[in-house]
Amino acid sequence: MTRVVVRAERTFTGGAFRPATVVVTDGVITDVLPLDATPDVGAGTETVDVPADAVLLPGLVDSHVHVNEPGRTEWEGFASATAAAAAGGVTTIVDMPLNSLPPTTTAEALEIKRAAAAPSARVDVGFWGGAVPENRGSLAPLHDAGAYGFKCFLSPSGVPEFGHLDRPGLDAAMAEVAVLGSRLIVHAEDPDLLHGDGALGRGYEAFLASRPAASEAAAIGSVVAAARRTGARAHVLHLSDAASLPVIREARADGVALTVETCPHYLTLVAEEIPDGAAEFKCCPPIRAAANRDLLWAGLLDGTVDAIVSDHSPSTVELKGAGDGDFGLAWGGISGLQVGLSAVWTEARTRGVPLERLVPLFTTGPAAVAGLEGVGVIEPGAVGHLTVFGPDDAFVVDAGALLHRNPVSAYDHRPLVGRVRRTLLRGETVFDLDGGGVVGHPAGRLLSARAARTTVAAGGR
Ligand code: ZN
Repeated sequence: MTRVVVRAERTFTGGAFRPATVVVTDGVITDVLPLDATPDVGAGTETVDVPADAVLLPGLVDSHVHVNEPGRTEWEGFASATAAAAAGGVTTIVDMPLNSLPPTTTAEALEIKRAAAAPSARVDVGFWGGAVPENRGSLAPLHDAGAYGFKCFLSPSGVPEFGHLDRPGLDAAMAEVAVLGSRLIVHAEDPDLLHGDGALGRGYEAFLASRPAASEAAAIGSVVAAARRTGARAHVLHLSDAASLPVIREARADGVALTVETCPHYLTLVAEEIPDGAAEFKCCPPIRAAANRDLLWAGLLDGTVDAIVSDHSPSTVELKGAGDGDFGLAWGGISGLQVGLSAVWTEARTRGVPLERLVPLFTTGPAAVAGLEGVGVIEPGAVGHLTVFGPDDAFVVDAGALLHRNPVSAYDHRPLVGRVRRTLLRGETVFDLDGGGVVGHPAGRLLSARAARTTVAAGGR
């Protein structure tokens, strides 16, 4: 038996910060006791005393990460992505089904993904499947193999092997996931309202104009309508357009099973400040104006937004620099896995938003989006994933020092406040800022929705 006792004046448990002693036994939280408790611990118990200027959080959950191994490992691989996750306090990621080769659109492809991840995962990894024109009507094997749900695009995905769904295809995928009891997560941009293929120049304005908010609004309207018709659980990925929040809110009020996420870059960066040729800021949908950012924060605080996830989507330095900073030619995608909480917390402080409002959006929110159980909380029975965060720790982002594979970051040179000091996976320290960074052997586990479903079924008997 291994036991780890973590004491912190400010432990996030039961929805608030309170003094607590957290006991992790064989990787599972077995007790949350008062701070002055003296749990009956055996010899060899490790004790972690969290300093008074730091807080103890549940390990963060990021349900939107593109690890491009196998096939495009030079863009991002499991070793580097999960090291970055550990350094960012993220103990569970769910991998997106595209940009790796093959894309995760069949049960066989999921097995290939799992084999690639197994030797090098430093945090726990689950997998989304993909819904593409080619696997219409045959999602069941991938669902049965343990995919947490299915991702589709309504506009071109950026890679030729992962096609997008038209409206009939969207309806068919929704109907199928409804029958399976799975979920459809949607990249919501309407291709009919996107303009401009190819070169757009080095100015951000032309790129922003090429992917207008109306495109997101139209696609989200399609998602809502299809979810309403089929009764499927649906999720809007990486919302940038804040004007779509009321539509999402109304659909939910009507009983549509709809969730929505946004990303740190939409909450912290603004179009007005993106320099010419700075392709590290290119992502789809795009970062919009400052006024839109304010409305996204309002949607966050009124409970419309369910989760903040990275949409970590790197490529090589060469692809990011394609066209010498032309926003039409560069690869779209932001590598934010390691700095998400720091970036959003830095912005939240200036807005007077307390940390306890953010924590659920980085933990239970994304866990619910993916249907992950037993993570994102500090309570008995939960997995012993813990993150020590110094909310007043100031630092300046150095893209070259981040642990994801290619040294490109939209946050490079940005001063941030709030930093992950230590990350524990099942009670074992996997990242220690002052003690060597990422430490130990890759101890991440591969997660399967099938296992969770089996547990639920067994428990129900
Ligand atoms: Zn994505």
